[in-house]
Amino acid sequence: MTDTPAARGRLYVVGTPIGNLADLSERAREALAGADVIAAEDTRRTRGLLLHIRAETPLIAYHEHNERERVAELLDKLARGATVALVSDAGTPLISDPGWRLVRAARAAGIDVVPIPGPSAVIAALCAAGIATDRFAFEGFLPRRAAARVERLRQLAAEPRTLVFFESVHRLPETLDALVEQLGPDRPAALARELTKVHEQIVSAPLGELRARLDGDIPLLGEFVIVVAGAPGEAPPDERRAREIYELLSSEIEPSKALKLTAAITGLSRNDLYRLTRT
Ligand code: SAM
Repeated sequence: MTDTPAARGRLYVVGTPIGNLADLSERAREALAGADVIAAEDTRRTRGLLLHIRAETPLIAYHEHNERERVAELLDKLARGATVALVSDAGTPLISDPGWRLVRAARAAGIDVVPIPGPSAVIAALCAAGIATDRFAFEGFLPRRAAARVERLRQLAAEPRTLVFFESVHRLPETLDALVEQLGPDRPAALARELTKVHEQIVSAPLGELRARLDGDIPLLGEFVIVVAGAPGEAPPDERRAREIYELLSSEIEPSKALKLTAAITGLSRNDLYRLTRT
């Protein structure tokens, strides 16, 4: 007779509220209440959440300082059939939070990893900032060292995608200074403060203005996400071509005639051409 292998466990990656407890989803509640163990970044904080949902699931600390040791321990439990729920302090685990080593190891061991999507400050800030969302790059926290931060921002200055940064309240002023310096004071941006909480505040303004208002009508208190518009792109090829044609014609004939002819050649409206030739 052969031994039947124990059923394999399952790892749930559970998003939790970033401020407002009502944002905890029904699936998240079930996963937390039903797991054999919850791997939590801060067990005290997660205990508060469990109290809220009246669950008594055992907790095990899993944070950036013990991640490597805990992976082996949790993997062993999973291999013996346990259901493990992974949570961070708030929001979505692995997003500037611990967890990817456990997820990587679980997947490599053939264990099911099941995401239970929930709040994340990245998406909450982005969807309310009023800045293009079709393409964005999440940059997490910028390096702490000034030289490394400037270097990173130099690399990002020409990035056409919207940029999303996390920052702690203590470093926010110097980070905004660096953003103004490297990306320019006129770059459209937004500061999202205390998302989903009582003092939620989302301010859209150019970087220079945000910096000037910081510690004024934007209190230097709470948690912040910075959203910055991507670098303005090059004009589309048809606009570039129209500009070239206009420049050529206007060197030979009156500007108004050159504009009329350029419109006829390119099919662009005279209004568009007028705007193009003045930028
Ligand atoms: N994993 C989390 C998530 O998905 O939202 C993010 C964790 S990261 C360690 C913490 C940073 O997220 C904070 O420094 C802040 O930049 C941002 N953040 C978290 N909660 C926030 C909130 N309610 N309002 C604004 N920013 C928040």
